[in-house]
Amino acid sequence: MNWNRIKVGGITLGIVLIFNWIFSKSPIIFDYLYFKSIFQAFRGLHDFTLGFLPIPSLYIIAPVFIGYFFYKKKDFKYWILESIGACLIWIVVFFYITWGFNYQQPHIGKMLNLPSVKVDSVYISQTFRDQTKILDSMLTNLTIEAPTDIIKLENETRILQEDLLTKWKIPTIGRVRVRSLFGGSLLHIRTSGIYIPHAFEGHLDSGIYPLQYPFTLAHEMAHGYGFTDESVCNFVSYLTCLKSSNPTVRFSAELAYWRYLVGYYKYFHREVWKEEYQNLNPKLKYHLDEISNHVERYKDWMPKYRDVIYDKYLKSHGVKAGIRSYNQMILLIAAYRQMEDTTSVSTEGDNHQ
Ligand SMILES: [Zn+2]
Repeated sequence: MNWNRIKVGGITLGIVLIFNWIFSKSPIIFDYLYFKSIFQAFRGLHDFTLGFLPIPSLYIIAPVFIGYFFYKKKDFKYWILESIGACLIWIVVFFYITWGFNYQQPHIGKMLNLPSVKVDSVYISQTFRDQTKILDSMLTNLTIEAPTDIIKLENETRILQEDLLTKWKIPTIGRVRVRSLFGGSLLHIRTSGIYIPHAFEGHLDSGIYPLQYPFTLAHEMAHGYGFTDESVCNFVSYLTCLKSSNPTVRFSAELAYWRYLVGYYKYFHREVWKEEYQNLNPKLKYHLDEISNHVERYKDWMPKYRDVIYDKYLKSHGVKAGIRSYNQMILLIAAYRQMEDTTSVSTEGDNHQ
């Protein structure tokens, strides 16, 4: 009798895992039964109620959820054990129901019919140099200013992202919120943003370098519209930000892309990198230093285990590349650009290289 909540939770979890398996086998069932119906209903329900509150939904949902399992000491020897067990099981159950089934989404390459491309060291080197020139030119010709009004940035980003997703025929019934949390809340675990399915909202640590807000915000927003894969969210965020008329938003995305490229470029050109780094635009070096300085203000609480845990988490959800999945953004952008080039060649008979 006393273990009822665990029993019910266990059975529900079993059913959830069966559905997860069914969705993994049938993209059509996943699409109609979950992504285009249940998930959208949840989105609408949250976004048009708690989503309007000035505080993160997390501050309401977390205490209510945890309180429900622990509020009353029961006349039962193992009540605390039972409460912890039941709470953990239901966290997992709700994770799937509110968002986690989206891990079964077909790959974006398939959804958008992206061509398969080869990204090798020659491509990386050339793209990195081109990207450096783009940043150079932006820093020279445009006014790049840290965004001060995050709500305004959030609203503008949502319009751009919904526009992009609508073109891809992805439903945007909700209005995904991305909340700003106090500095250090996530940076202590070396994370700049996080989407919390149970709260239906994305979050970013306000302690990150403000020029990173636009890209991070658009990344978390993409999670909210149902994308689970990190590289896909980077890709969606990149395209979203590039649509903006605000140079700072575009710069934020180009800088993020550059930072993914530089990791590989450094690896391929270890001998000359130090010298090349010295020759970078001083303004760019300033921004790079500021990014690290902002992170370093917060002590790393779990340096060794974080990446291992997150890697295991991603792999357990079928993201085979694990933590490297973030870097596949380079591949997606390469494929997308190739697709755009082919489209413009065939429609205009004119090669935009
Ligand atoms: Zn993410």
